[in-house]
Amino acid sequence: MKLYNTLTRNKEEFKPIGKEVGIYSCGPTVYNFPHVGNLRAFLFADLLKRCLLFKGFKIKHVMNVTDIDDKLIKKSEGDKEKLKEITIKYERAFKKNLEELNIIPADFYPRATESIKEMVEIVKKLLERGYAYKTSDGIYYSVKKFKDYGKLAGINLDNLKEGARVNNDEYDKESAKDFALWKFWQEEDGNIFWETEIGKGRPGWHIECSAMSSKYLGEHFDIHTGGIDLLFPHHTNELAQSEAANGKKFVNYWLHNEHLMINGEKMSKSLGNFYVLSDLVNKGFSLNAIRYLLISTHYRQKLNLTDETLKASEEAVKRILEFIANAKNREDNEKIISLIKETKKAIEKAIDDDLNIALVLSSIFKFIREANKLGAGKKAYELVIKTNEILGLSLEKEKIEIPEEVSQLVEEREKARKNKDWKKSDDLREEIKKLGFILDDAKDGVRVRKI
Ligand SMILES: [Zn+2]
Repeated sequence: MKLYNTLTRNKEEFKPIGKEVGIYSCGPTVYNFPHVGNLRAFLFADLLKRCLLFKGFKIKHVMNVTDIDDKLIKKSEGDKEKLKEITIKYERAFKKNLEELNIIPADFYPRATESIKEMVEIVKKLLERGYAYKTSDGIYYSVKKFKDYGKLAGINLDNLKEGARVNNDEYDKESAKDFALWKFWQEEDGNIFWETEIGKGRPGWHIECSAMSSKYLGEHFDIHTGGIDLLFPHHTNELAQSEAANGKKFVNYWLHNEHLMINGEKMSKSLGNFYVLSDLVNKGFSLNAIRYLLISTHYRQKLNLTDETLKASEEAVKRILEFIANAKNREDNEKIISLIKETKKAIEKAIDDDLNIALVLSSIFKFIREANKLGAGKKAYELVIKTNEILGLSLEKEKIEIPEEVSQLVEEREKARKNKDWKKSDDLREEIKKLGFILDDAKDGVRVRKI
């Protein structure tokens, strides 16, 4: 299985370090509801996990919850109680979204505020090793000291201004600067601080991911995921901190998903196109369709969310659900069996090529089309169910149930057709239509579709 590694800018054969694949994904800042761009990143991690599981790997997945940063301190006006209230509220909302989108839960969701001790340990190591220095307002990481700084994002250190520092979480994304590992307490922080060996204060943003990843996955692990917007400075700084503190390679494979676009534009507050999950549900789209759209474009390509692409996803999901609803409990014929083999191979090959989901989807829809013509049985049904382990559609929640009444009418119509009573057959078709279903006549019988 090949994966595109941002670190080497190459598709590389994936080789895990141990028996379990260690995956770390940058999680949400629980400051408000996740927007659809965030959801794309979470769904990308989910797709990666599902493909690895499909291939038989075991996984240990960690996703952090950022429950302290500049914005959160401002929002809670320096009050620890209020901070807790806000972060718990949005952490719940985040987890609810994951459940709604049928995302396999991570094994651990550590909170930054509960990992302060581990962060302090890393900062101490960095001070000892000469990668960090103290100023009046905090402890900073010296990017010049780490010779490979910027290798992940391809940042050139030549334009680095000596001693240029950044203390807030809002970075300019152009130039490298020394960044805060630990921020000393100041008045605006109110009662939000930790008394530690390195001083009274709170952590910078990047240090939390270095601390929480090594806490659960060790100092060297397999895969780190996140949105491309995190590549610099966040992941660049994580890597610099961890490798400088531990003196060893941090992560083997860095995987980044591209941006989500809304109607061809970047999502932004000022354009008013900042969607959260409930906005799309309120427009009438199903959770399965939303999930489908967010995974259906290859993760390294920009994904365009529009009403049209959502509608198309809704149709695609319906075709899968209909296939399942009409699947017949019988043996498959020879043609189908060979088609199943061919499709399985195509799907595995697609996954192995850096999770080529577009090819997975085209293979399964080609199969469904052919199987509908050839007459699908048990094994055809199993193939679609197995493929759904990758797609992760919730088959139960939106299951297409064909009511007893409809099934009976379909049977009556079959009889009428056998007796060549076309008038009765047409009347029954109309009656079935009134109940919300249409019929496709095929060689091996009839299939029922929801209107
Ligand atoms: Zn992170």
